[in-house]
Formats: sequence, structure tokens, C-alpha cells
Amino acid sequence: MKVESHSVPNALLEALKAVLGNKLHTNPTEMLLYRYDAIAQGPAPVAVVIAETTQDVANTLKLCNAYKIPVVPRGGSSGLSGGAVPVGACIMVATNKMTKLEVDEFSRTATVQPGVITDAISVKAKSVGLYYPPDPASSRQSTIGGNIAENAGGPQCLKKGVTGDYVLELEFVTSDGEIRRMNREGLDIPGVIIGSEGTLAFVTQAILKLEPIPKFTRTAFAVFSDLGQAGRAVALITARGLTPAKLELMDQNSIRAVEQFLHMGLPIDAEAILVCDCDGDDEAVVNLEIESAAEAFREAGATQVKLAADALEAAQLWKARRSVSPALGNIRPNRFNEDIVVPRSTLEPAMREMQEIAKRYPFPFAIFGHAGDGNLHPNILFNRTTDNIEQVDEFAHEIARVALRHGGVLSGEHGIGLMKRGFMTEATPRATLEAYWRVKHAFDPNGIMNPGKLLPDLGGATVVKPERVALGERDFDLTT
Ligand SMILES: Cc1cc2nc3c(=O)[nH]c(=O)nc-3n(C[C@H](O)[C@H](O)[C@H](O)COP(=O)(O)OP(=O)(O)OC[C@H]3O[C@@H](n4cnc5c(N)ncnc54)[C@H](O)[C@@H]3O)c2cc1C
Repeated sequence: MKVESHSVPNALLEALKAVLGNKLHTNPTEMLLYRYDAIAQGPAPVAVVIAETTQDVANTLKLCNAYKIPVVPRGGSSGLSGGAVPVGACIMVATNKMTKLEVDEFSRTATVQPGVITDAISVKAKSVGLYYPPDPASSRQSTIGGNIAENAGGPQCLKKGVTGDYVLELEFVTSDGEIRRMNREGLDIPGVIIGSEGTLAFVTQAILKLEPIPKFTRTAFAVFSDLGQAGRAVALITARGLTPAKLELMDQNSIRAVEQFLHMGLPIDAEAILVCDCDGDDEAVVNLEIESAAEAFREAGATQVKLAADALEAAQLWKARRSVSPALGNIRPNRFNEDIVVPRSTLEPAMREMQEIAKRYPFPFAIFGHAGDGNLHPNILFNRTTDNIEQVDEFAHEIARVALRHGGVLSGEHGIGLMKRGFMTEATPRATLEAYWRVKHAFDPNGIMNPGKLLPDLGGATVVKPERVALGERDFDLTT
């Protein structure tokens, strides 16, 4: 299916205005605000519907489908793969006014509209001793609708699982404007919609599972003079049968960036730092687990292992890891935040290969991420106005190929969106992509749901062509 650039007929805008009234926005200056997510930019949408109810979404999709006009769902626009960015004339549907949130302590569930900010769920559930475990680092900006569309993860997902593991029921609007509500029994239709990046259906409500807040958490911090030792430590922890709540890595360039940013006294000559949390309700077990993790760090060759004495010290140890993103932002104004996954056993060679590749490019480069589940964020730092964007793209694609060579995947949590869509033909067997398209056609016969994202054009082209749009100021090029 080729992505066409449609113009939006006035008759559609008039029909939308008639049912939505002032929830339809068309002011061209205002539309400019909707060109972006956290990494990409595209053309402005023709109109934005600021939906307040499921019926608003249904009315919009019904009309857009009748006119075969693309619809782009938008949550908190914190996406890192261009998913909420228009690729041509479209109607955008924003969920920021769909923010109803109810917590039921007896069923341990939260019923949420899609525009609820991720963090708000745990904040509300805390008063009854519950929380919502998936914890993307963007949780103060991202919405639950965006999290479901991307099947978002976060540091805690190593032990607790990702967004999709917490969705019990979804309400969604189909491309032809029908409202459906389904749980996970039988054919798991919500499971197909979760992670589909807004290309199949529009999520309008979810029932999410909540968990009791663990009573005890212990934190360990380990310093390695060799990156490979850190990789081995991660493998050893798994071999010991431990599942930490979090197990996060910073490489030397991340350590140096944070030190330059915060002056915390971090070991800038170290090649890697691992920060680890173990949690649970039995203090003795949690203590045993963190001791066992510390032993694994020592066995792998850590030069320093520190166990936090209390929550305050633990927060201090986590501060370094939490500060990587702002610290890198301090070095160059722009960064390409990659999101690859490799098997834990290949963390070391994969990181070494990436560091070798980085030597051929003029850009500062750092690796950090959720090492416990092999999900790394190699970051290319650059300046959009002065650097060669094609070179940044080329570098990012070399990084993605490292993941594929090691039996990994293109994205752990940020999605494919626009950024990696052109790469899908190289990463995914054609038969699998054809199966994806058959699912897409079944859900969305007119191709109106977020076109140009996730699914590559299979019109005979298998050439990998970086979609430069994602980083530059140019128009989108969707002809992969
Ligand atoms: C600093 C930073 C840190 C981050 N850390 C993490 C992390 O740790 N883990 C992680 O997983 N991600 C992370 N991200 C990426 C991003 O926050 C996630 O992908 C998040 O899930 C996007 O949510 P959003 O509401 O901002 O979605 P948007 O960016 O608005 O949209 C994302 C996608 O979801 C679709 N969509 C939005 N709402 C709906 C809906 N109601 N129905 C159907 N489709 C919809 C959009 O069309 C788009 O394709 C990070 C981003 C930043 C900027």
C-alpha cells in the first residue's frame, strides 16, 4: 500500500465541524504545534480534533474513513520514533482531554482514558498501596494511550513486564468508527492492537492491572574497568536465577557526560557502571538477592561494589543513571536515541562493535540502557544545523545492523514509527511483513490509520533507505 499525500476536502472539515463543534481546530499557526514528537517533525496536520469522549473519536474516524483521509493519533508526543508525526495531509486526533482515571483497590485495577499521563496512575494508586509497574523514563509526559500503542517498557520491566502485560481490557475505535470493547480471552485482539503504533485502531479506554507496592527495595552499584566484565555480570546474574527489579548500564561516555553535568564524583576512568535494584515483600529474601547480585558483580571483576544503606543513598546512586539523558543533551543539542535489543549473552561483543563503529564517525557516542533485558540505548549526539544528517542516519543504521547480526531486534520500547520503517524490509522476513499487511488490511481496509508508520511499503522495493526526515528539516520521503 503506497502512502498517498491526500488533500483534505472542505466537505469533510465541514462535516467534522458539524459534529465536533469547537473540538475541531484548524488555525494554521496552531497546527504548527502538532508537527513534532520528541525526535521527528513533519508537515502540519490540516486539522486537530481535541477529543473529549470515545464518541468524538468514533465520529471523527467514521467521517475520515468515508473520505479516506488519514488519521494520526497523538498522546503526549514523547515518542522517539516519529509515530505521532504527520506524513502528509491528515486529521490528527489528540487525547490530552481524555484523562479520566479511576482506581479500584478491590479488583486492583485502574480504568483509564488514553490521555492519562503514565505517572498519574501510580500517584493515584499509591494511597491504597498499589502501583502501575511499567515505568518509561518519560512517564511524566507520556500517556497511557501512547504507552499501549508502543507497548512501552522501562527499567522495572525486567522483572515486572511491559505495558501489554498489564492491559486486561481495551476499548478501541475501529477505522470505520465502530466502538469495541474486548478483554484478552479467546483470540487476543487487544494483544494485536498493543504495540501497533496507532496503525490498526484508536485506543479510547483501558483497564489496567495494578500491583501492591513492594515493601522492601535494596540497591547495588558496581564499577567496572572493562565493559566486557559488565556484560558478563549481567549474564551471571541471570545464570544465578536472579531477576532484579532493575539492572541498568552506563558506558564510559555516559559516565563522563553525567560527571561533567553533575560533578557527583563518578569514576570517569571506569568503562561501565551497573545499577541494580532487588525488591519484594520479604526483607530477608531481598537482602539475600542484593548480596547475590553484588557477588556476581565481584565475580565478573567489578573494581568497586557499593550497597546503598538506605533509600536516600539509593536515590543518590540512581541519580547518575537517571541523569544520562539530560547530561547527553548538554553535550550536543540533538541526539539520535537508538533502542536496540540483543541477547544478554552478546551484550559485550555488541557494545564493542558499536564502539568500533563510532570511531569512524565524528559524533560523540554513548551507550546506556536496560542491560538486564538486553535493551540498549546507543546515543549519537549531533547538531542538526551544522552536522551532516545523512551521516547520522548511516551511523544509526550501522548500529541497528549490529543488533540484527547478534540475533537481536530493531526496537525494545520506542517502536518503529517513521525512524525505522525503512529498515523493516532488511530486518523482517518478507512473509512476516506480508502477514502484518494482511492484519492491517483486516483492521483498516482504507489505510487511514496512521499511514507511513511501522509497516514498510512492499511495492517491490527492498532497498534500505534512511528516512532522513526524522532528523532533518526536510519533507518526508516515504518511497522506500
Ligand atoms: C526522555 C525520554 C525517555 C523515554 N524513555 C522511554 C522508556 O524508558 N521506555 C519507553 O518505552 N519509551 C520511552 N520513551 C519514548 C516514549 O515516551 C514512549 O514511546 C511513549 O510510550 C509514547 O507515549 P506518548 O503518549 O508520548 O505517545 P505519542 O508520542 O503521542 O505517540 C506515540 C505513538 O502512539 C500512537 N498513539 C498515541 N495515542 C494513541 C491512542 N490513543 N490510540 C492509538 N494510538 C495512539 C501515536 O499515533 C504514535 O504512533 C522516552 C521518550 C523520551 C523523550
